Amino acid sequence: LIQLYAPLSFLGVLYREVRQSLTDIERMFTLLREHREVQDAADARPLAAGPCTVHFEDVRFAYEPRRPILHGVDFEIPAGRSLAVVGHSGAGKSTLARLLFRFYDVTGGAIRINDTDSRQLTQASLRAAIGIVPQDTVLFNDSILYNIQYGRPTADREEVIAAARAAHLHDFIESLPDGYDTTVGERGLKLSGGEKQRVAIARALLKNPPILIFDEATSALDSKTEQAIQAELEQAARGRTTLIIAHRLSTVMNADQILVLDKGKVVERGNHRDLLEQNGLYTQMWALQRQAEEK
Ligand code: ATP
Repeated sequence: LIQLYAPLSFLGVLYREVRQSLTDIERMFTLLREHREVQDAADARPLAAGPCTVHFEDVRFAYEPRRPILHGVDFEIPAGRSLAVVGHSGAGKSTLARLLFRFYDVTGGAIRINDTDSRQLTQASLRAAIGIVPQDTVLFNDSILYNIQYGRPTADREEVIAAARAAHLHDFIESLPDGYDTTVGERGLKLSGGEKQRVAIARALLKNPPILIFDEATSALDSKTEQAIQAELEQAARGRTTLIIAHRLSTVMNADQILVLDKGKVVERGNHRDLLEQNGLYTQMWALQRQAEEK
């Protein structure tokens, strides 16, 4: 039996390694595919450093020509302010974030950053100006130090530690057997949903971008962790132009503006109070969420 066990265990390790490599290759191809969608214009200019105003001007978009997803979306996020987008699943919320990052080009209208059409900007400078806290953070099979440093590979250890402190991750990391050198990811220590989000926040803080996109996780965290993450995000967003793709309404109450998106159109806009007074879709969604929470 022992003679059988060794090769079987070797096969198990091999299987995991192959599966991880396949996942990495898959991700690489997804990225390559998305990169090929857009090209730098011949006369593209870099985005100047500093605060950014984001302006969506009658933005229309379709992934496939026969199925339009956005039907003319208008909004402006002044530099340093926040805007949250809510709406039913499939309304087009995450699409707004993908367009801002320029994974795709708009099919009509324009996205302007400080009055320049984002198609006139170099992709490298645009993407350097945007930090993303995604729904599900990808962790590399490497140390937690490396995983945070990924936000800005030139950052030194002290800067990584400062970002981890700001994301309230430092004490947790210090409690691990190898501290910042502990391996995480598929073959290392598994992090909880909340810890992964904190890694994403620390990465974004290290990158220090003028624009922040927060794509809220659909899977709920426990309410204490959710409140803590919410507070850390609000701190990270301070002074940055922030787009929040919200799946739970508790995240949006403090946003400067809220857009309610329905089937690719803005149907209501205002702050939390204005929207409750309008007594429309937002009020309905709010009541439903309340009911769900009370159950
Ligand atoms: P959710 O709250 O469920 O995340 P959402 O409002 O963020 O939804 P989007 O992800 O923006 O919705 O998707 C809007 C529509 O676009 C959906 O009907 C979806 O099926 C479609 N869609 C999204 N990504 C693609 C894609 N890569 N190719 C084709 N259609 C897509």
